[in-house]
Amino acid sequence: MAARRCDSALVTGANRGIGLELVRQLAEAPRPPSLIFAGCRDPAGPRAKDLKDLAEKHSNLVTIIRLDTSDPESIRQAAGEAGSRLAGRGLDLLINNAGVNTPGQLRDTGMKDMVDVFVTNTVGPLLVTKDFLPYLQRAASQPGSGVGVAGTTPLVINVSTLLSSMEKCPETFSMAPMYSYRASKAALNMLTRCLAEEFKKDGIVVTAIHPGWVKTDMGGPKAPVAVVDSAKGMLRVISTLTDKHSGMLLDWEGSSIPW
Ligand code: NDP
Repeated sequence: MAARRCDSALVTGANRGIGLELVRQLAEAPRPPSLIFAGCRDPAGPRAKDLKDLAEKHSNLVTIIRLDTSDPESIRQAAGEAGSRLAGRGLDLLINNAGVNTPGQLRDTGMKDMVDVFVTNTVGPLLVTKDFLPYLQRAASQPGSGVGVAGTTPLVINVSTLLSSMEKCPETFSMAPMYSYRASKAALNMLTRCLAEEFKKDGIVVTAIHPGWVKTDMGGPKAPVAVVDSAKGMLRVISTLTDKHSGMLLDWEGSSIPW
């Protein structure tokens, strides 16, 4: 039986930074997915301009969908819209990329900072995965899908960070205290583990990936990794994933990061 390939993808937070570059590289791949959903919370706003230009350039491949990952109703509507466009096909790749950071030290971190960051970085990926699950399951049930063969199994990628690692905390804490951000991504790692267990029966792989310290609005100008290289590395790692990597935290070069 011929192996399946990634034919449909959704990237959340796709209007700038790593998300935008992931969509660009997916669209410009030699064998691109035929349906790339670019999630964006404000497609009509000024921050969506680069994404709109990209979607216009690849209008046969890229579809912008309004998706605010901190708003359950927006997620539900986005899933409905994607479902109509998939028209019976499954979703092969979901990249939960949208994220926020408040670089607060302990004295600057209050309840609102903790809750707001958790809503976007932890709750959002859970709700998006839940509402898109029927399409991931549909992809898993298609002929040629197999968890042991890289590139054929539906994937959920949660974009995490080295800063989520408890073991690495003594090395990373002083340069980036970021209480709310670290805690929200550590919780995202646990969701990754739980979803990996739950989706074993479905043949869906769930992996967390650290994109590197990347030159974006969030990473800042001093970051050593160019967004092009981060996205390229992530997509290469994604293309190698099998059930062996489900529930793991990997970096953009494929190395495992301890919890
Ligand atoms: P940016 O700040 O450059 O971009 C963040 C993206 O997420 C934007 O498109 C933003 O949209 C979107 N977003 C934020 N909140 C929401 C929401 N509620 N709904 C939908 N979209 C939302 O960040 P990066 O590209 O650098 O980061 C992408 C991911 O990589 C994040 O999860 C981040 O935590 C992770 N990461 C980044 C690192 C780095 O060094 N850059 C290091 C480790 C991890 P909008 O324009 O509307 O705000």
